[in-house]
Amino acid sequence: MKKIASIITKENIENLKLICGENGWTDAEDINEKYLSEERNFYKSYSPIILRPDSTLKISNILKYCYKKNIPIVPQGGNTGLVGGTVSGHISNEIILNLEKMNKVRELSHTDSVLIVEAGVKLHEVQSIAKSINKFFPLSLASEGTCQIGGNLATNAGGVHVIKYGNARDLALGLEVVLADGTIINGLKKLRKDNSGYNLNQLFIGSEGTLGIITAASLKLFPIPYEVNTILLALDSLENAIEIMNELKKIYLERLSALEFFSNFSLEIVLKNTTNTMRPFEKNYPWYILIDIEGTPDTNHNSNSIENFLFENLKKNTIKDGIVAKNLKEKENFWKLRDSIPYAQKPEGASIKHDISIPISKISQFLDESTKKIHKAIPNIRPCIFGHLGDGNIHFNLSKPIQMENLVFEEYQDKINKIIFDIVINYNGSISAEHGIGLVKKEAIKNYKDKSEITIMKNIKKIFDEKNILNPGKLI
Ligand SMILES: Cc1cc2nc3c(=O)[nH]c(=O)nc-3n(C[C@H](O)[C@H](O)[C@H](O)COP(=O)(O)OP(=O)(O)OC[C@H]3O[C@@H](n4cnc5c(N)ncnc54)[C@H](O)[C@@H]3O)c2cc1C
Repeated sequence: MKKIASIITKENIENLKLICGENGWTDAEDINEKYLSEERNFYKSYSPIILRPDSTLKISNILKYCYKKNIPIVPQGGNTGLVGGTVSGHISNEIILNLEKMNKVRELSHTDSVLIVEAGVKLHEVQSIAKSINKFFPLSLASEGTCQIGGNLATNAGGVHVIKYGNARDLALGLEVVLADGTIINGLKKLRKDNSGYNLNQLFIGSEGTLGIITAASLKLFPIPYEVNTILLALDSLENAIEIMNELKKIYLERLSALEFFSNFSLEIVLKNTTNTMRPFEKNYPWYILIDIEGTPDTNHNSNSIENFLFENLKKNTIKDGIVAKNLKEKENFWKLRDSIPYAQKPEGASIKHDISIPISKISQFLDESTKKIHKAIPNIRPCIFGHLGDGNIHFNLSKPIQMENLVFEEYQDKINKIIFDIVINYNGSISAEHGIGLVKKEAIKNYKDKSEITIMKNIKKIFDEKNILNPGKLI
């Protein structure tokens, strides 16, 4: 891919300010750290100005100008990404374009079950807007208070409801996108079916800001689940967890809307590092699974049948203990235990994180093999394992040994990644199930993805961004 020798002059900055208009930018003196830092603290950004345009037309004019002047742009949403995708100034002089002011609701239709919003609307606001007309938008991640729908689509975010509703890509009916040369593609359709040629929207979803800037999206809404039963189970093996999952799928079919798992270490750090959390069981167990089962008014699904299911499995010893949440407070407490894991890992010092996927049938074998190998490589390393069991998506996160300095541990990153990724590929898995590639896995993708696929991806990038001004140096 073409390298850009970009020089951003004072004149360029003044012209970009004029395009963005008053309040549409923040310049050097005032730049808030939140735009320049990134979640993992691996990289520091530099950007002489932060562009914060509030209309698609302004974004188009920015890109027309930058295209002419060879100025690279880094699109930024809520900046919660975990792979360094929003870092600027890494391979050339780049300017951050933050989407937070693109925050308008364009259309909300009960009959079409569609919500059209601009890219900068935060995910939890999207959920609330849907709720305001008695509808449900199922994308849900622990970062939903900060991440934006544009960022979710650019990363094809997953979250806790993929098992029933799919990834972000399954929830978008259409996109509005601004291309590198400023062309606006208006694909904000509300159609459930459209076979009129290649589906370009799906190319932009998961492209991490390298093919175009998503400025608005047409989103699918669903009926609000009639009732959700939340259950927390304790188990002594992941084989049992998978058996339970298969049983639940058989009984409850598509009403199974979340199936998350976490290890005892993950629970312990949450209880230690998060306020207002309660130990759910008297004893410790190696694994826990957290389940949501949606109800319907016309089925005999209620908590009695779930309690029977638990009772049968306690008898069979496939589960060791289990609690069905009795009220909203208990539900929230169970979910807090799961959602707090990524935050609870921070006070434990440096960590090396993986968000991989493995065929569900191989998860136990994978975990056995990888835990043994990383313990051999770094004795006393502390695996913090959790994730979306229903999707085979494992957050195989590793906290440093207690006595080891952060910097010393971080030096092991490449070695540890190689151990884990080699095993992942042996099991026909993926090195990224939901967070994407960004900068963090940019080298790894070259070794672990099919070479012909990489060539096609590079060719696609050239078609959309021949000058390489959109998020250069990320993904490919
Ligand atoms: C506590 C925590 C929990 C998380 N849990 C999950 C989880 O369960 N599942 C999951 O998938 N992820 C998870 N994440 C990762 C992150 O929240 C998601 O990747 C999210 O989708 C990023 O959205 P954002 O708005 O913050 O994007 P950003 O971080 O701002 O950007 C991410 C990437 O998208 C590009 N981008 C952003 N906006 C646009 C746009 N409008 N147009 C084009 N490109 C754009 C950026 O250039 C960058 O490459 C978690 C993160 C945290 C901190």
